[in-house]
Amino acid sequence: MKHILVTGGAGFLGSHLCERLLDQGHNVTCLDNYYTGSKANISRFIGRNGFSLIEQSVLDPVDGQYDEIYNLASPASPPHYQADPIFTFKTSVIGTLNLLELARRTGAKILQASTSEIYGDPHVHPQREDYWGNVNTIGIRSCYDEGKRGAETLIYDYQRMHGVNVRVVRIFNTYGPGMNPEDGRVVSNFIIQALRGEDLTIYGDGQQTRSFCYRDDLIEGIIRLMNAPDHVSFPVNIGNPVEFTIRELAELVLEMIDSPSKLVNLPLPQDDPTQRCPDITRAREHLGWEPTTPLREGLEKAIPYFRHCIESPAIPSARKA
Ligand code: UDP
Repeated sequence: MKHILVTGGAGFLGSHLCERLLDQGHNVTCLDNYYTGSKANISRFIGRNGFSLIEQSVLDPVDGQYDEIYNLASPASPPHYQADPIFTFKTSVIGTLNLLELARRTGAKILQASTSEIYGDPHVHPQREDYWGNVNTIGIRSCYDEGKRGAETLIYDYQRMHGVNVRVVRIFNTYGPGMNPEDGRVVSNFIIQALRGEDLTIYGDGQQTRSFCYRDDLIEGIIRLMNAPDHVSFPVNIGNPVEFTIRELAELVLEMIDSPSKLVNLPLPQDDPTQRCPDITRAREHLGWEPTTPLREGLEKAIPYFRHCIESPAIPSARKA
């Protein structure tokens, strides 16, 4: 049994990670400032044996003795991370620095939640971990992309300088029950629009692609990475390698919900990546991991959750996009 810190533990992925680790019998401390996470996400296990909560930002120094630290603290959807870009950048860079200091002082192993966004608008397809990316340093997505890139730089400098035991997961688009319905991302937007009979908002021509990973597959991959042998300290992509255009996603959602909604095209946001798909060879080889939930099956689980969210105003949601 380990004592594990999950920063961003009240977010969509963080809360499910906390629950899986509790189910495995570990002591879990969730640290969150509720910037985009919410107490509602963790209410089902507040009070459970082995669970504790620290309500603070990773921008403030973090104390405690942990065996493992999962750093998931960051706003993650474009509308949220762009709402206060300076805060987003600081959260990635200063937050990771604070946690690396904690890891260095106490000998904890640290896993950094990085992102497919570090590849920017990629020129290499699918994206392998040894691709350095194509990122605009001064655009509206840069606060997130460059913040996460800077965090990766710090992680490996702490490994080289101080021998910190590190893991880096590059997370590709993930969805599932528990997402903030107002998070502004494409899966939640389309499902909610279809359920309400509103137009589905396709940004651009909808030919841009994404690869959607179901929540539980992703959590499994992250936990396997943390528990992999120490030489697996290089970045590992975790995502679903089956690629869809955004228009295909919209059509699938409409078919599954049997909605009268129509598709409308809105302007494409600046620097929106045109293609994104993970090469998961490393995850397959080193973690024995690959996703097992096809998009249709994952949407079958997500749709009832979003239906419940819009029918039950009692479900508090985090920050509005
Ligand atoms: N998108 C869209 N309609 C929406 C929300 C997003 O067409 O209502 C597009 C967005 O422009 C991007 C893709 O869907 O090309 C994925 O966007 P999301 O915000 O989910 O995540 P990203 O991969 O951009 O971080």
